[in-house]
Amino acid sequence: MLIKYTVKSPAESASSLNLVAIDDEILSVSAIATQTSTAESFYVEGEISLPGHFQRFYLLGCSECNHLVRSKIKREIQCINCRLSRMLIPRCHFEVEITDETGTITATMSEGLGERILSMTAEQIYDITGVKNELFPAAHNNQLLADKLFRVQLQWSSSRTPDKNAGSLVLLSYTEKPTMFLPEDSTSVSGADRIMEEEPILVTDAKATKKQKREPSTLPKRLRYG
Ligand SMILES: [Zn+2]
Repeated sequence: MLIKYTVKSPAESASSLNLVAIDDEILSVSAIATQTSTAESFYVEGEISLPGHFQRFYLLGCSECNHLVRSKIKREIQCINCRLSRMLIPRCHFEVEITDETGTITATMSEGLGERILSMTAEQIYDITGVKNELFPAAHNNQLLADKLFRVQLQWSSSRTPDKNAGSLVLLSYTEKPTMFLPEDSTSVSGADRIMEEEPILVTDAKATKKQKREPSTLPKRLRYG
């Protein structure tokens, strides 16, 4: 299903996909609100950026069970899940905005997926915003993400995290879409080239016929004078 859609042009898929419901259906951002199921994931194609508001880009969780704790600094806790004394470790966690031609939505990215798109480990993020208490270089990341198109897999979350209520969107996966040339453009260009090639041939033919016609008339003249 995915391969089928990457071959299609964006204009083609946008119109046909609104009519056909398939597993890998690509929704427009404006259509996400109508997707109420928390059991199924869906796809959106758009640009990913970091929102302007302040974020720490990490949450702290139990080193053993990953139970998230509302804390800004690493410390030892009595995990209510493991019921044991555990050290907190940073987990990458932040909000992104996904924008297509219909609008913008906010989703959360976390763990390895978040680390991958930021090119940073959770420990590095914690060092910047948690230890040094500096602002995360969001503008730099937005520059790197600018003008890139992503196919993003999203799902409504039913679970709660310390900074989010239930009912938020979670980014499950993302792939960068390669910049491609539209097939319509390439055919029209080659078609125009063919006409351009044919025309000069017709022009030279006409000139050649004129020359041929003139020469027999000048030859007898020259013969007459000579
Ligand atoms: Zn635990």
